[in-house]
Amino acid sequence: MLTKDQAICIRTVDYSETSQIVTFFAKASGKIGAIAKGAKRPKSPFDGPIEMLSHGRIVFAASNKDKLATLTEFESAAGTAGPTLLRNNLFSLNCCLFAAELVNLLTDEHDPHSNLFDSFLEFLHNAENAGNKCEMLALLILFQLALLKDVGLGPILDHCVNCKTTFACPEGDIRLPHGGHPAPSGVEGPTSELYFSNSANGLICKNCESAFQDKFKLTKKAAATLTNLKLLANASENTLNEIEKLLTYHFTELTHRRPKMAKYVLGS
Ligand SMILES: [Zn+2]
Repeated sequence: MLTKDQAICIRTVDYSETSQIVTFFAKASGKIGAIAKGAKRPKSPFDGPIEMLSHGRIVFAASNKDKLATLTEFESAAGTAGPTLLRNNLFSLNCCLFAAELVNLLTDEHDPHSNLFDSFLEFLHNAENAGNKCEMLALLILFQLALLKDVGLGPILDHCVNCKTTFACPEGDIRLPHGGHPAPSGVEGPTSELYFSNSANGLICKNCESAFQDKFKLTKKAAATLTNLKLLANASENTLNEIEKLLTYHFTELTHRRPKMAKYVLGS
């Protein structure tokens, strides 16, 4: 049976002189491994080898769930996110490849995540237009948080995981707890010390941190930014790098190995 879908290429492996094994993240079908026979032939049925991050319409013949599907058509969407534009900016390209690696690591085959597909496509479009390194890092951080949320692993950033104390946002934009009642007295201000625990999957206040073994102490700026993501837009490169390091460590703990692309984004 042939299945049509929209998909983004998140991994390619050369299979033979002429064929590729391609992993697609498809909107309705979820992650799919497919063999693209003859993709590297001069007269490729797919207009040449399928490139990482290219996206478009696919048609594939599904097989038994443990086996590779057979790709029969791939028509890359014209004028859309793709590797070509990103090639002009190595840092942006590396951030997009990092995002693709994480999507691959955190999703299962045949498990659809159509909202995540849309977020990923939007992320790739925005990456093409990112004006500088800070803008690109902010986009990556937002996408990584969206990815975590979509797979049910979204970190708790608005209150202490342990004692539930709500963290006030800077700029007087205090988040009210349930029902619109004012935050209780003793609410953590934006300048309070905050920690992030991987095992607890969220932020921890100063009063609770001693109970947690694995924790990162955050700088005040990083803490303020994580509790109010709007601040990502104007955050300094140092703050963005600090948050990205924290998320990379978090992904490493979740998947039991450091994502390969992390070093190209963090520089170490
Ligand atoms: Zn606490």
